[in-house]
Amino acid sequence: MTKASDPNMIPQSGLLSTEANQAAALAAYGGVLTVDLDAIIANWRKLEKTAVPAECSAVIKADAYGCGTAQVAQALNKAGCKTFFVATIEEARTARAAVPDAVIYVLGGYFQNTGEHYAKINCRPVIGDLNELAEWDVFCRRTGWSGGAAIHIDTGMNRLGLTLAEAQAIIPRINAGDHGITLVMSHLVSAEQLNSPVNAKQLAAFRGIASEFSGVPAALANSSGIFLGAPFQFDLVRPGAALYGVNPTPEADNPMQQVVDLKARIVQTRNVERGETVGYGGTWTARRPTKLAIIAVGYADGYFRAASSNDGTRGAEVIVAGKRCPVAGRISMDLIAIDITDVPPNAARRGHMVTLLGEGITVDELAHHFGTIGYEVLTSLGHRYARVYKGGNVVEPLTKPEPAQAAEHSPSPPPIEQPAAPPSPPG
Ligand SMILES: *Cc1c(COP(=O)(O)O)cnc(C)c1O
Repeated sequence: MTKASDPNMIPQSGLLSTEANQAAALAAYGGVLTVDLDAIIANWRKLEKTAVPAECSAVIKADAYGCGTAQVAQALNKAGCKTFFVATIEEARTARAAVPDAVIYVLGGYFQNTGEHYAKINCRPVIGDLNELAEWDVFCRRTGWSGGAAIHIDTGMNRLGLTLAEAQAIIPRINAGDHGITLVMSHLVSAEQLNSPVNAKQLAAFRGIASEFSGVPAALANSSGIFLGAPFQFDLVRPGAALYGVNPTPEADNPMQQVVDLKARIVQTRNVERGETVGYGGTWTARRPTKLAIIAVGYADGYFRAASSNDGTRGAEVIVAGKRCPVAGRISMDLIAIDITDVPPNAARRGHMVTLLGEGITVDELAHHFGTIGYEVLTSLGHRYARVYKGGNVVEPLTKPEPAQAAEHSPSPPPIEQPAAPPSPPG
């Protein structure tokens, strides 16, 4: 990290600091990703309230669904969240640095000979089979480590977890006390479908087995599971996606606030004649004299190529000067063409920012165009954007080289002016 000491360096992480830095840095990035930590906190509070008296944890795996592990963990911890779930030990390490006092569970199971990592980070494995449990026990006995672990029981997902029979077999051990198990959990298959009969089946199975783990807190619900009602909430709930603005109740309006705002810079505007094609493969034909804006984001930034627009198939839309405008042609690696014919002249110029996410374009809407779910939209957010964190009382971005204040609001960068005239000679 020697480069970080150079004051002229754009922050390496892409994290913007002072406003002065921002304007300079923005020119170096094609897009700006703003994560609204206050919205994440508001979403967490809403879930907490919905699940009360259950404890509301936060799932921050996959870099907090693309929003930044450290920033999200810190903001939520300050807001009162005490328990976090990640997928891997490496993610736990990042989370631990951000929230020294929180409880951290690693969902990915216990892998042999990783006990030292758990002890060092002070995090807890979510144990999903009997081999893992045996190895964990050996480690704990050998070292005297008593940092806790969760037992994951499978109730229908058939992914991770002890079978019900296996879980039954370890009940005597739980009853014997001093077992080191701090949570018993299972995971729902179809929680976002209110009327799926699988929900009730899993609930019944989990309720039965969890009740035998006397004195051990139980957890079943993910984001959508929280909205299935109190019986699903047990002692602790594990929301992920809903914290980041994905709709946990797809059959109804989204109760969550939007978290991510994504803007891209117009690299140039150009006019094409009627009948000309745009982009790779010439799959989109101008039906009228058309004005295009070429923006500096592409599929390498997580804006899926599936959202391309071809003759006969409409792709995604982008907001330019407050107006929804369609993608024109195929999305390329680093660039997208937008049809801005209907935007007033001069409202969209080189250097202006357009909105890919935000101003009414939701993660779920993009997911629809991408042919996927909001989860994948978020976890695919590229690493080429300048990143701005808004709210959350974030005083110091963690990966930032200079001791400047974090941005308090999303930047509205000044448009980069077209050079009007050569500079006048001094005199
Ligand atoms: C990812 C995950 C969650 C969070 O799920 P969301 O649908 O994002 O709320 C909860 N529990 C487990 C076991 C998970 O793997």
